[in-house]
Amino acid sequence: MTTCPHCTTNDLPHGGFLCDPCVRATSRHLLQLPTLWSALEIWLAPGRGAPFISGRTPRAEAPLPLREEVLDLRAEGGIVGVLEDWRAAVHDARGMAPPPRAVSLEHRVAIAARALDGHLDWIARWYAAPDLATDIRTLVGRAYAVIQPGRDPDEPQYLGRCIATDTTGAVCGRPLHAYPDRAVQCDWCLCVYTPDTWLALRHYQPGRGQGMAA
Ligand SMILES: [Zn+2]
Ligand SMILES: [Zn+2]
Repeated sequence: MTTCPHCTTNDLPHGGFLCDPCVRATSRHLLQLPTLWSALEIWLAPGRGAPFISGRTPRAEAPLPLREEVLDLRAEGGIVGVLEDWRAAVHDARGMAPPPRAVSLEHRVAIAARALDGHLDWIARWYAAPDLATDIRTLVGRAYAVIQPGRDPDEPQYLGRCIATDTTGAVCGRPLHAYPDRAVQCDWCLCVYTPDTWLALRHYQPGRGQGMAA
């Protein structure tokens, strides 16, 4: 019996590429994204401290790297880009016409997230499902890292793959996760990633930055 390539824990008794708990988690993450996208707006308006989600009030002015992260997440290539790229890939793989595009970014996020959620039964049997689930979880983790630092949506925060290179120039590539109580260290090459390097880590992800994994 094969193991779910996403959580690498649960078996897949009926085949496919995503176990039931991972499908449910991905659904939960997808449905959180429109709210998170809206909640991030507050970080773009310095001085507009207002409670939301958990009643937490953000600092009046986000430090620059944080603001950059918010801009990244809310830009064309951020949350909306990842969702729409995956939705287009699903339509393509299912032989469906390309999805129409709504006008406002906010509507596009909501529509793409809901549409992907509606495809999850099919997605679970698609070879690209683990990459999709990882991308969606990463978006949620990044948004929560801004809005509620220290809060894990439901698991350690996925940071990306280790970008360390060996003497031949080969990239390590080990997936890295942030835990609340310990330093991030790659368990293959032992490279340590302090929080101030996480943005750079994401920036230099191989094949990332275009919205979705290959
Ligand atoms: Zn799984
Ligand atoms: Zn490494």
